[in-house]
Amino acid sequence: MSQSKTIAPNSIEARDIAYQFHPSVDLRRYEEEGGLIIDRGEGIYVFDQAGKRYIEGLAGLWSVAVGFNEKRLADVAYAQMQKLPYYHSFNYKAHGPSVDLAEKLVQISPEHLTKVHFTSSGSEANDLVVKMIWYRSNALGLPDKKKIIGRVKGYHGVTIAAGSVTGIPANHGSFDLPLDRMIHTLTPDYPRDHLEGETEEQFSARMAEALEELILREGPETIAAMFGEPVMGAGGVIVPPKGYWEAIQAVLRKYDILLVADEVICGFGRTGKMFACEVYGIKPDVMVTSKQISSSYMPLSAILMSDDFYNPIADESHRLGVFAHGYTASGHPVATAVGLENIKIIEERDLVGNAARLEAQFLSGLRGLESHPMALWSRGVGLIGALEIKGTAKVGEMGQLAQACLLEEGLIVRAIGDAICLCPPLVITAEQVDEMIAAIGRALDALA
Ligand code: PLP
Repeated sequence: MSQSKTIAPNSIEARDIAYQFHPSVDLRRYEEEGGLIIDRGEGIYVFDQAGKRYIEGLAGLWSVAVGFNEKRLADVAYAQMQKLPYYHSFNYKAHGPSVDLAEKLVQISPEHLTKVHFTSSGSEANDLVVKMIWYRSNALGLPDKKKIIGRVKGYHGVTIAAGSVTGIPANHGSFDLPLDRMIHTLTPDYPRDHLEGETEEQFSARMAEALEELILREGPETIAAMFGEPVMGAGGVIVPPKGYWEAIQAVLRKYDILLVADEVICGFGRTGKMFACEVYGIKPDVMVTSKQISSSYMPLSAILMSDDFYNPIADESHRLGVFAHGYTASGHPVATAVGLENIKIIEERDLVGNAARLEAQFLSGLRGLESHPMALWSRGVGLIGALEIKGTAKVGEMGQLAQACLLEEGLIVRAIGDAICLCPPLVITAEQVDEMIAAIGRALDALA
């Protein structure tokens, strides 16, 4: 918040500054300016302390599919808290909610994914997938097959391994990341990085060639897996150009390299299908989900995998006597109960269909803004999109347009580079899509 404001002593803003070390901010700037205190939510809106209403154009952190006051999730959490508030999944124990959710996930996900392992965040899940991959390579007698390919601008979280697969320099600087075993290939950022006259298909073919060159340079026998978000989120909503995933998968298959689809943002309807893998013809060995799995009402993530991925790991655990990894909260009963109810709501209200139906209106709204003198081009799929504008954002800053949207229009968007990104709750209506686009238009006018 760079709006100048007076922070009253002992106010919640003052106590926040005094006591809380926030994630993902310039801490010194936060000490000066504080943050926006959000008090409550309703549908696609959140309200601050003073009662001012904001459209949550990013669904929190790309995550609240069902809106900000879904009572059914609160009721399920309360009921589960009363019945069995906590139990774990270690040492040959299980409980109903995690079994029910695992079964449901296998039913709704691509057919070849047959086993589910629960964690509590996208970072934890991706971190564990890296460990599983290393464990599996050892199990297969391939101790040198350990390198992991990520992509420049790819985001897979912030823990040590997941943060290393992430290809965003800001997440590496001064944290001593990435780890040596993590290497990065190009981002399919079309049209930004295309060569003069290059079509989408030619661009995709060049991305696949760059991947193959990296593999050959590093030694195919040393590379275990590639991670990719079907549509990149935190890198700036980068939608894959035509033919991209087909070409990439052909290269991976050629060199026996696993594919991990990070559906942490895309999963559960964001792109107009239950999973983005269906949109782009991706057949991953592992699919990582979080965020919209529970609409982030409870921390939850799920790793789905094929038999071929699972079996060597299971054999190795048998040889060693244990798969010695797990968290106190793995498969937490309240989180998994909330996750299952959330997916039922997504299905019953056809929120995946809602994203598909509103896609054309949402994307044409963004395209309509392209003619603004401040704008460049837009992109998106389903209900995730971005508008590229003429360089107003500085690294680490919110971006002038995002700020104008917030302060003048009561619209929360995310500025990434020179783009503003949108990812509204899947319960959004056609009228609210127009409301959001009109607000951006007015904010652009105010800046021009
Ligand atoms: N993977 C993707 C694609 C993400 O967008 C994110 C978070 O935004 C993560 C992983 C990390 O998830 P978490 O913040 O829950 O650790």
